[in-house]
Amino acid sequence: MSKGFFIDVTRCIACKACQIACKQWNRLPAEQTRNVGSYQNPPDFTPATYKLVRMKEAIIDGKFYGLFFPDQCRHCLIPPCLLWAQDSDAIYQDEDTGAVVYTAKTSNLVAQDITGACPYDVPRSDGDGVLKKCTMCNDRVKQGLEPACVKTCPTDALNFGELEDMQTLASERLENIKLTYPDAQLVDTDDVRVIFLTAFAPDKYHSHAAAFDPKRWKPG
Ligand code: SF4
Ligand code: SF4
Repeated sequence: MSKGFFIDVTRCIACKACQIACKQWNRLPAEQTRNVGSYQNPPDFTPATYKLVRMKEAIIDGKFYGLFFPDQCRHCLIPPCLLWAQDSDAIYQDEDTGAVVYTAKTSNLVAQDITGACPYDVPRSDGDGVLKKCTMCNDRVKQGLEPACVKTCPTDALNFGELEDMQTLASERLENIKLTYPDAQLVDTDDVRVIFLTAFAPDKYHSHAAAFDPKRWKPG
């Protein structure tokens, strides 16, 4: 029952249905926000926004693109946040689904250790010091339901199922998309349960879209 997502950003139309469905299912409150000059709202993850449709505008090879990226926790196969927590009561990995789940006991952890460990800049601390992020809708999945965000996506940009099936679907879709977007790629496929397919290099979408950005690495 090892689970995974496949997220094809080339199918995302930035309707934000997933963002709202996430809030509804997880009973997350609306928040005071602000316009930062883009469609992206709120400007970043918060303790009450686990799913965030990021948006950038870019000119690539002389053409305008709206780059949409429905961001969330990747439920890493070997989660750095869990390794740093060293307390399976505060953060645990569900044995069946593989979901990385944060509990209220995360308030006992050093928040900076956990947030700093996440290569995708995902967890956020609430006013009580409790760390919050996507749960994989583990409560739904254990009952045989899809995550709320996947259920609501009208374009099949979001897919969920057995991890192996998602890996296969991702590889198949990549072959197809490459005919239109030669730079298309799957992001960090071997390390995560949430596999993104991007039409262009991941850093064009978001600085933490991929765990390892070769441009940041300087030898020596
Ligand atoms: S899996 Fe559930 S908690 Fe995670 S982003 Fe989707 S709706 Fe939100
Ligand atoms: S993406 Fe970040 S928060 Fe999610 S499992 Fe990986 S390290 Fe933990």
